[in-house]
Amino acid sequence: MDDFLIIGGGIAGVSAGARLAEFGRVTLLEAETALAYHASGRSAALYVHEHGPHATVALARASKDDFLSAEGWLSPRGVMFIAGAGEEETLARNIADYRLTPISVDEARQKVPVLDPARVVAAGWDEEAWDIDTDRMIQSYARAVRANGQIVTGAKVEKIRRTAQGWQVEAGGATHEARVLVNAAGAWADAVARMAGLAPIGLVPKRRSIARVAAPEGFDPSPWPMTFGAGESWYMKPDAGALLISPADAEPTTPHDAWADDMVLAEGIARWEDRVTTPVTRMIANWAGLRTFAPDGNVVLGPAPQDDAFVWCAGQGGFGFLTAPGASRLVADRVTGRQSALDARTLSETDPARFA
Ligand SMILES: Cc1cc2nc3c(=O)[nH]c(=O)nc-3n(C[C@H](O)[C@H](O)[C@H](O)COP(=O)(O)OP(=O)(O)OC[C@H]3O[C@@H](n4cnc5c(N)ncnc54)[C@H](O)[C@@H]3O)c2cc1C
Repeated sequence: MDDFLIIGGGIAGVSAGARLAEFGRVTLLEAETALAYHASGRSAALYVHEHGPHATVALARASKDDFLSAEGWLSPRGVMFIAGAGEEETLARNIADYRLTPISVDEARQKVPVLDPARVVAAGWDEEAWDIDTDRMIQSYARAVRANGQIVTGAKVEKIRRTAQGWQVEAGGATHEARVLVNAAGAWADAVARMAGLAPIGLVPKRRSIARVAAPEGFDPSPWPMTFGAGESWYMKPDAGALLISPADAEPTTPHDAWADDMVLAEGIARWEDRVTTPVTRMIANWAGLRTFAPDGNVVLGPAPQDDAFVWCAGQGGFGFLTAPGASRLVADRVTGRQSALDARTLSETDPARFA
């Protein structure tokens, strides 16, 4: 029998598995034939540490040393918010919330030269934002899991049974047993809880879409910062010589293999085109992923109040990568009874007991 059985091979599952492998043998089960097939393979891959609700910021800050010390996880990007006429107040709120520095339109155009000075009236900037090499991060956590256990892909968990010693799980035609079950099933985490006979939390997957488009003719976008419309109404991020453009949609849906709707993508592209002097000429690819939120918007980390051998690692929303080092450490702290370095408010806001 293993010590820990983890359901889900996204960033939540592999990072929790890597931490727990320090304390016992881990088996990680992933339904798809590869890791990071769902949300974790579809993100915008940005690391910021002052962005979002209190617990998200605390976990992102608690992750900073891990990010900066890991070989090749981060590269500099910077983040900029811009406003058109009538959006100045919204931008001022973004500047205050995310501790941005207000900059002039001229300075904004030095950073992103295609911005239209006739349609951008104000901007805010922060250099403390990085691109995450998400594949490298996943692989490095996966190596740590394999150092004291195994990762089984193509293993969809179909049955979960509580036993006197722990759990018995059927997946991909095999039976696995462990003392502790970790639910890192992303959009499917409530379904996994139900399968284990526990109450669901009320997680809601929300679709977010991205178009990958050709860079404007004659420009190299690689040094441009990630750029948001005021109020996060859309964003643009340079990506290997092209641009990612998202309408920042958040359509509530059910757990599924998400895809992007053409009209939603067109809306995002139109909002970007409305602030720049260059049209989008060609879509290279597009996709959508599910960002899954608990009812209060905070992540759910640690043993369930009804059964401490069932551990939640769910509800990462739009912050699953940038919080993963700190969040996975907290999961291990709570499973092993180790003291956490996080503040009391973050501990209570992330505790599964808040839904009991
Ligand atoms: C467009 C977009 C942009 C984003 N941008 C950012 C960003 O810039 N920075 C950031 O930090 N985050 C970002 N996010 C959020 C981030 O991607 C997610 O928070 C994170 O990937 C969630 O990871 P996860 O492991 O919980 O879920 P997933 O990656 O979805 O993994 C869950 C896994 O569980 C598996 N599973 C489910 N049920 C079972 C079962 N019964 N048996 C076996 N396996 C099962 C699934 O197959 C899946 O692989 C973004 C997300 C999207 C969609």
